[in-house]
Amino acid sequence: MVKDDLNLNLSSAFEETYETIDGMPVFKMLIDGKWRSSERGELFEVHTPIDGSLIAKAQAGTKNDVDLACSTAKENRSIRELPGSERIEIFECAADMLEKHRNEFIRVLQIEAGKTALDAEGEFDAALQRFRFTKEEASRIFGEYIPGDWNKGTTEKMAMVIREPVGVVAAIIPFNYPLFIAATKIAPGLLAGNSVVLKPSSTNPIASTLLARVLQIAGVPDGSINLITGIGSEAGDALVESEHVDMINFTGSTPVGKSIAQKAGMKRLHLELGGKAYALVLEDADLDLASQKCVDGSLKFAGQRCDAVSAVLAVEPIADSLVEKIVAKVDRWKLGDPRDESVNIGPVINSQAAVRINGLVLDAIAKGAELLRGGKFSGSYFEPTVLDLVSTEAVIATEEVFGPVVTIIRCKDVEEALKFARQSKYGLESCVFTRDFYRMWRVAKALECGEVTINDCPSHGVGYFPFGGIKQSGMGREGIGYSIDEMTRLKTIVFNLAPAGLGKKEHRAATCKTGFKQ
Ligand code: NAP
Repeated sequence: MVKDDLNLNLSSAFEETYETIDGMPVFKMLIDGKWRSSERGELFEVHTPIDGSLIAKAQAGTKNDVDLACSTAKENRSIRELPGSERIEIFECAADMLEKHRNEFIRVLQIEAGKTALDAEGEFDAALQRFRFTKEEASRIFGEYIPGDWNKGTTEKMAMVIREPVGVVAAIIPFNYPLFIAATKIAPGLLAGNSVVLKPSSTNPIASTLLARVLQIAGVPDGSINLITGIGSEAGDALVESEHVDMINFTGSTPVGKSIAQKAGMKRLHLELGGKAYALVLEDADLDLASQKCVDGSLKFAGQRCDAVSAVLAVEPIADSLVEKIVAKVDRWKLGDPRDESVNIGPVINSQAAVRINGLVLDAIAKGAELLRGGKFSGSYFEPTVLDLVSTEAVIATEEVFGPVVTIIRCKDVEEALKFARQSKYGLESCVFTRDFYRMWRVAKALECGEVTINDCPSHGVGYFPFGGIKQSGMGREGIGYSIDEMTRLKTIVFNLAPAGLGKKEHRAATCKTGFKQ
């Protein structure tokens, strides 16, 4: 039985997605247009980070379930055969439905992911925006005409290059943005004409399940959108290895991304992996702005963001003043139940995550860091924490934190900061605070990552910008338009126009007739 205040209170639109057993919602999978149980009938538990209690169960999908979903997605080309105008109508309807169920989605995100209202609303709005904007971009999927007559021997040929869907896209997503990240893959995937098999994190699969239902009601044809729930090592592995899958579009940690790359064979890969965003704060920075953004960037959604500010590299001349301002700002963050409106930092995803973050903090202290704030945790609630004078030898200096810690590393000057940042194995994002245009440009060019933000903390931005990593942060670019490019492939159709007497005919020897005497 779910506690009253943690009941999901879903409306009748979502009735088909679950059954209630002993007062507990048991969610199903969507395969070929039907909401089904797993073939083995096994379930896994979904706990809320708010107090760790059980809020739902979901199907532990097996290899056979995955095979069924992927093979029907492969055979089913309905979405691809629908005229673009109809696909757009479906997406308009889906966006309207999402908006109608806004409060339900926000409640689910708060309960299953432990988000504050502000964080849950931000995620919902970003997901809705992806639906609305991507449909406009989809109508600009064009090809090109290439004449052959620039080359001797193909003067009577021409080619049409068209963009086609890749086929079946397996979309595997992490726990931190279960609605937004699903939207960033599903909207461009389906609009471009692919069938999609979505696998959410087994930590919190509910918002993704409701999204699949919205798409089904909006009219996405049976088999074109499928939902497989289950444990990564079984359902995720089966998806990656399925012969019916043409592309893996994965967002998650670097170790899992690497193992996917090893197992995927010849499938197309788009990997959005872990990051280590450094914030370089230089002598001439606006320190009020820099301290504000470093704190927001480190603590928003308890730091559980791939683009979180993961360490501040403060140059010595301003380090004391910056640290003083950071500490003053961190003191305004209140930790607690994310449903309490006065709270702006909720729990991390579970108590194991809190134990892991604690290990990073203790390691940093053992290697000489000074703990200025926080550092304690209870269950999944980790205090907003500030560590100053962190050694570059500490694990937290180079690894993802994924927790509410402002990590400050002091550097002699910009050169030392750049040298350290460039050594990172990650390359997703970074940011720099300075008022000097030439330094902005030099630092932005020198950092080795997919995106550099000037005078703000990194974020996915407006969605039109390409987003993605280099090095161990992944491959491929996501963003409205860019995601469509990733999920389509080029086909060249060559026409021989000679039989119809069309095309250009060669009519003279190619001699150089300059008229000059030797
Ligand atoms: P994760 O542990 O890597 O899991 C991500 C997804 O992969 C989950 O659905 C997981 O299922 C599944 N999975 C696990 N093992 C698998 C396997 N062997 N084969 C196929 N799928 C498998 O990541 P997370 O802890 O949920 O999310 C946090 C990570 O995501 C961080 O590293 C963060 O930086 C990264 N992230 C990156 C971006 C970006 O845009 N670059 C955005 C958001 C998050 P289970 O849940 O069942 O294990």
